[in-house]
Amino acid sequence: MAQRLVVIGADAAGMAAASQARRRRERDDLEIVAFDRGHFTSYSACGIPYWISGLVPERDQLIARAPETFRESFDIEVRLRHEVTAIDLDRREVVARDLDRGGEVRAGFDLLMYATGANPIRPDWAGGDVGGVFGMQTLDDGAALLGWLDADPAPRHAVVVGGGYIGVEMAEALIQRGLSVTLVERDEQPMSTVDPDMAELVVDAMRTLGLQIRTGLSVTGLEQRDGRVSAVVTEEGSIPADVVILGLGVRPNVALARAAGLPLGPSGGVRVDRRMRVPGVPGVWAAGDCVETLHRVSGMPVHVPLGTYANKQGRVAGINIGGGYATFAGVIGTAVTKVCDLEVGRTGLRERDAVTAGFEFVSVIAKSTNRAGYYPGARPMTVKLIAEKPSGRLLGAQIVGWSEAAKRIDTLAVALWNKMTVDDMTALDLGYAPPFAPVWDPVLIAARKAVDALAGSGR
Ligand SMILES: Cc1cc2nc3c(=O)[nH]c(=O)nc-3n(C[C@H](O)[C@H](O)[C@H](O)COP(=O)(O)OP(=O)(O)OC[C@H]3O[C@@H](n4cnc5c(N)ncnc54)[C@H](O)[C@@H]3O)c2cc1C
Repeated sequence: MAQRLVVIGADAAGMAAASQARRRRERDDLEIVAFDRGHFTSYSACGIPYWISGLVPERDQLIARAPETFRESFDIEVRLRHEVTAIDLDRREVVARDLDRGGEVRAGFDLLMYATGANPIRPDWAGGDVGGVFGMQTLDDGAALLGWLDADPAPRHAVVVGGGYIGVEMAEALIQRGLSVTLVERDEQPMSTVDPDMAELVVDAMRTLGLQIRTGLSVTGLEQRDGRVSAVVTEEGSIPADVVILGLGVRPNVALARAAGLPLGPSGGVRVDRRMRVPGVPGVWAAGDCVETLHRVSGMPVHVPLGTYANKQGRVAGINIGGGYATFAGVIGTAVTKVCDLEVGRTGLRERDAVTAGFEFVSVIAKSTNRAGYYPGARPMTVKLIAEKPSGRLLGAQIVGWSEAAKRIDTLAVALWNKMTVDDMTALDLGYAPPFAPVWDPVLIAARKAVDALAGSGR
C-alpha cells in the first residue's frame, strides 16, 4: 500500500521537498498531499519589492509553479486555503480548517514535512484594525499594499518601520513609486546585517535617494483618521503617514510544532539533523524558515530565514524522503541586496558575531573600484574582511559598492566555506580585464591588507 506524505506549507521548502520526493517515488508508492493556508504555491516572496515598485509588472510572474502544475505534472495534491491547526503524532494525522468553505478535514500521514516558514513580527501597537498598515510576507500582502497604493486619493507619505533588508527594499520600492518615505529604525543604524562602518555607506546612499532616515527611534503607536492610518507615533513626536510598512523581522513559525511536541532549538526554530529529519520523531521532517541550522563558522545553531536555504533544505528533505541520501551542510549567512544602484553583500560573521563566538580577530576595510580606474563607469567599491588571529582564517566579509559589487561576495563565500586564510586568498587566480576589475581585484587588495594587519598585530 502507498505511504502518504503530508506537507504543511506549499512554498519554497515544502514544495521543493514534495517535488524531490515525487521524482524518486511513484504515486502508487507515495501519495503526496500539501496544505497551505494561502492562495498560492511556490511563489517568490523575494520578488515582492520589485512587483511593488512596478519593475515586475504582474503578480503571476512571481509564481514559479501553480497548483495545477503540481497536480498535472507531479501528481501532488495541493489544498490551498487550508490551514493546518493541529498535528497529532500518536494518531499520525493533521487537522486542517477550510478557510473558504468552513469545516475541518483530517488527513492521516506516514511521513510529515513541516515547512510553515516564518511569521513577521507585528508589535502590539500595530495589532488593531487600522487601514494602511502592512506586513510584507506573502503575495496576498503585496496585493493588499498595491490596492492601497492605487486607491484614490493615493497615499503620499510612507513610513517603513525597521531597517533590515526587507524594510530597505520596500523603502526603495515606495520611493520609486513617487512617495515620500521615512524609514524609522530603533538601532543606531539600519542594515544591521553588516557592521556599522559598512552600513554607514548604505545609509549615505539611501539619503541621496531622498529617503528620510530616523535612527535610535522607536515607534510606540499609530494615529488614525476614519479607520485609516494618519501618522506613526514615536518618543520624538508623530511622523505623518498614510501607509505604514512593517519590516521588523520574522520569527520561525513553530506554533504547531511546539503544540505537537517537536523539539525546538535555542534560536526558536525546529531542530533538525543534517538530513532535515526532526530528531527523535520518526517520519517527521522540517525545512526552511521554520527551522534552525548550523552556522559553519561560529558552530552555533542559528535561524537565518532566506529563500536560498529554504529551497536547498527542502530539496535535501525530499531526496531523503524519496529514499536517497542527502545532507544540508549548514550556512555561512551569505546574502545580497541593493539600494537603487548601490549593492551590498555579506557573508560569515560580523565583528559582533565574531566577539560572541569567542574569536580573536583583525578587521580591515579596503577601498577600491569595480573596474580599472580609467575605464568608463568605474565606481568605488569597499570590501571589509574579518580574519582570525593568529591563523588568518577568513571569518567574515562584507562588500558595498556599485555594479559588480554584490555578487563578488560569492568569491569570498567560497573562500570562507573552504576555510581559506587571507594569506591563501592573496594568491587567488581571479579574472582581470579593465571593464571588469582593476589589475588587483578589490577582493585581493582586501586580503593583502588583512595579511598586513595580522602581521602588524604580532600574530
Ligand atoms: C519581501 C521579502 C523579500 C525577500 N527577499 C529575499 C531575498 O532576496 N533572498 C532570500 O534568500 N530570501 C528572501 N526572502 C526570504 C524568503 O522569501 C524566505 O526565506 C522563503 O520564502 C522561505 O521559504 P519557506 O518555504 O520556508 O517559508 P514560506 O515561503 O514562508 O512558506 C511557508 C508557507 O507555509 C504556509 N503556512 C504556514 N502555516 C501554515 C499552516 N498552519 N497551515 C497551512 N499552511 C501554512 C504559508 O501560507 C506559506 O505559504 C524574502 C522574503 C520577503 C518577505
